[in-house]
Amino acid sequence: MTERKTINIVWHPGKITRAKREHLSGHRGFTIWFTGLSASGKSTLAVAMEEALYEHGCHAYVLDGDNVRHGLNNNLGFSPQDRTENIRRIAEVAKLFRDAGVISLTAFISPYRVDRDSARKLAQDEHDAFIEVFVDCPVAVCEKRDPKGMYQKARAGIIKEFTGISAPYEPPDNPEIHLRTDQMTVGECVQSIMDYLVDRNYIPCAPNSMQTSYCAGLSSIT
Ligand code: ADP
Repeated sequence: MTERKTINIVWHPGKITRAKREHLSGHRGFTIWFTGLSASGKSTLAVAMEEALYEHGCHAYVLDGDNVRHGLNNNLGFSPQDRTENIRRIAEVAKLFRDAGVISLTAFISPYRVDRDSARKLAQDEHDAFIEVFVDCPVAVCEKRDPKGMYQKARAGIIKEFTGISAPYEPPDNPEIHLRTDQMTVGECVQSIMDYLVDRNYIPCAPNSMQTSYCAGLSSIT
């Protein structure tokens, strides 16, 4: 949707490469992109994964849909155009995180396949640095969970264009990871993502000891 307005700009290269930053981190910079209906479990899993990665000595950061709409995207609504722009900005932020050698965990409904594919395209030269996780849960279960009361408001017509009720959700065709959160516990979901990351060398198999001992020191004083 955004019309490009930037002209006369030239990329200014830095001296520290992504490879050097990743070396310092002790792991690759990559994106775990959670997609699914509201209340399917994206934020819960992103937060649980952030904790698991932290304890593994990895630098990870959650970009959560609602949180990002408090600041960076507070001028965007839920029309198809605004949803597209919402995802475009997050995809660009996730790209910066990857370049910084940091793992970003994005928790956005991201209902349109074309928008998720655009986010993935930004990582196309980065050797599988984009991991799409389909947080799959039947709408009836999501509606029953309804931790934020959103479905109730959507049914009452208070919230318009609500995904799964009055706006579409296009499930991923070929996600790297597919989790049925109505059939698995949060712990089982986290374990299966961690196994995926270790098996494919995204993160070291043993916790990064230097960082972990530092983290252990931190938690003992907080
Ligand atoms: P979303 O971010 O997708 O809108 P939330 O994470 O806010 O969803 O809410 C999901 C709800 O489902 C939470 O109350 C969570 O405790 C519950 N839940 C039950 N099982 C799971 C699971 N396997 N994974 C994630 N959430 C789960």
